[in-house]
Amino acid sequence: MTQQMDSTIQAEIQGLAERYDQEGLQGLSELIAERINRQQATGNSIYLLTTFTLQPLVGNLDRWPKNASINNDWIEFQLEINEQTSETHVARAKIFRLPGKYGLLVGRDIHQLTEAKRRIIQALTWGLAIMVMLAFLGGIVLSRRTVRKIERINQTTQSIMSGDLSRRVPVTDRNDDFDQVADNLNQMLDRIQMLMEDIRRVSDNIAHDLRTPLARLRQHLEEARLEEDPSSKSAMNLEQSIKEADSLLGTFNALLRIARIEAGQVRAGFGDVDFHSLLEDIVEFYEPLIEEKNQTLETTIDANIVSQGDRDLLFQAFANVLENAIKYTPDKGNLSVSLIRLNTELVITIADNGPGIPASERDKVFRRFYRLDQSRSSSGNGLGLSMVSAVVSLHNGSIDLEDNIPGLRTIIRLPMMKKKA
Ligand code: ATP
Ligand code: MG
Repeated sequence: MTQQMDSTIQAEIQGLAERYDQEGLQGLSELIAERINRQQATGNSIYLLTTFTLQPLVGNLDRWPKNASINNDWIEFQLEINEQTSETHVARAKIFRLPGKYGLLVGRDIHQLTEAKRRIIQALTWGLAIMVMLAFLGGIVLSRRTVRKIERINQTTQSIMSGDLSRRVPVTDRNDDFDQVADNLNQMLDRIQMLMEDIRRVSDNIAHDLRTPLARLRQHLEEARLEEDPSSKSAMNLEQSIKEADSLLGTFNALLRIARIEAGQVRAGFGDVDFHSLLEDIVEFYEPLIEEKNQTLETTIDANIVSQGDRDLLFQAFANVLENAIKYTPDKGNLSVSLIRLNTELVITIADNGPGIPASERDKVFRRFYRLDQSRSSSGNGLGLSMVSAVVSLHNGSIDLEDNIPGLRTIIRLPMMKKKA
């Protein structure tokens, strides 16, 4: 716009100069006066013709602008619009000497132009500010969404790591990058789960298939022993071998039992279980062992708690935990067994003050055959807690191992189940 105005002024000067060339000062003055008259209404052109000493001759400007030396150049100056309010506008003009040393100034009031410029700059500034703000907000919203998605993947992987391999990362139907990551993760998990099941099946199959030959082996050993003189060395060796075979058979049976419980094949044995009498029976069963180790046992068992379950399996499970407590706690240790009902939940707590299990190992002891190094010298093969965990899941319960400071506290929670009609 400035350029356009400059060339208009330039053209105007051209016209004026031509007239001066043709008709001299007189013609130029007339033309200026005529132009001033013609644009009276809009009035933003400025003309001033002066003498050599810059005294005004014709024009609509009453004096030569201050600080404007006359050397054929563009100037900008303050134009007084209203004397009372001393309102001024910016004007832009070209000044130069005519051949006869007269001074000539041709210009425009560029108030509107500067005003437009100011508005444009203002609008751009606001626009920029708003844009930055929107970008900022958009960034926050987007990153929140991203973080939330990552958080979901995180939660799932965490619960998978804590043992629930059946969990999957949620996938939306938007099919964005996150969904593809989730999809791949899920496929990977499917594969891992399949492999884990394969491994379990293989070990269960081995246990299953070796059971019969092992039983036959035991049978033969038994027959051989009967033919020997009971006091002979070979009879004693055979006796030892039979014991080993029995222990192997025990391990295989335990493995198969766990596999069956985990597969949920034993639900048929569900019925009303009186937990009070169940725990009393277990305590009674282990009393001789406790006495033998000079340990003390404290029991707090609420009466009249009846819920659905498989009594035999629950017996084995609780017995395993109590047996561990007795086995791993040194002589003269203190044990406790408690059963309470919390709303719709049964809480069975079995605690001891023995060596306990370090926090980092508490997840691992539920694995098959996992034993702490310090326990390797005592009897057992590391299947007890696997069985307990399988039985507890079968009853939709949960099991936690905690530090009893010192010792181990095992807390088993089972939901109360009413008999289905
Ligand atoms: P099994 O029960 O098959 O005869 P086990 O007792 O060794 O053998 P789990 O009952 O599964 O196997 O226990 C696994 C391991 O956890 C044990 O070997 C032992 O190291 C540790 N453990 C279990 N209970 C306790 C406890 N009360 N105090 C200290 N360590 C324990
Ligand atoms: Mg055990």
